[in-house]
Amino acid sequence: MNVLAIGAHGDDIEVQCGGTLAKYAARGDKVFMCVVTDGRGRPKGDPDQIAEVRRQESLASARVIGAELVWMGIPDGGLKVTDETLAQFVEVIRETKPNVIITHPQEDYHPDHRYTNQLVLDAAQLARVRNFPSDLPPYRETLPIAFMDGVLGLSFLPEEWVDISDYYEKKAEMLSQHVSQMMPDTYDPNFVIPSRDQNPFLRMIEVQSGFRGMQCGARYGEAFIWWRSLNRVVPYRVLP
Ligand SMILES: [Zn+2]
Repeated sequence: MNVLAIGAHGDDIEVQCGGTLAKYAARGDKVFMCVVTDGRGRPKGDPDQIAEVRRQESLASARVIGAELVWMGIPDGGLKVTDETLAQFVEVIRETKPNVIITHPQEDYHPDHRYTNQLVLDAAQLARVRNFPSDLPPYRETLPIAFMDGVLGLSFLPEEWVDISDYYEKKAEMLSQHVSQMMPDTYDPNFVIPSRDQNPFLRMIEVQSGFRGMQCGARYGEAFIWWRSLNRVVPYRVLP
């Protein structure tokens, strides 16, 4: 199976579905981690340098599970639904030929997340269209789209769970590559990440993964809902 996870920022994918991706990868599926924006917004520093740091962090994270990074490089905070961004999303889908896409839920706190959601839904349909202007052929496989959890599970009522207990360490290892996101304010190349119980970022994710795990009788879990629409539903379980 080809699995395509699309997150607005480097680390979004890891936070909400890193364990699920690790589980897919461990059973031999091909995993693509697509990061839409270049992350230049945070931490404070030269935006071009920050964008490169963020790209390297995402690359290191993808390497933890042997996934392939797809870096779209759209400026952080500047994402909109336009003909151009839509065409970029269509290219990614036609290029990676996914059997499932995982992305942000429709109600999420960050505009980049909500636009990513919209672009994924629109592009998945346009990727099928034979005359959509592109050098790549149309991609017309049935393509389920799962929405991953929101930060701390707000406004999200799950309908499927993945037991990631055996993959939580991988998830934590992926997240630990995003060192810049744990810096309090300004970019510091010598920053050392605090241990897990002193680290608000890792602690938040452990609590949420533990909470979703508890709901499904597992130590750690991740939760999802499905986009129910034509060309998006299948009569079998897609999540690992
Ligand atoms: Zn984000």
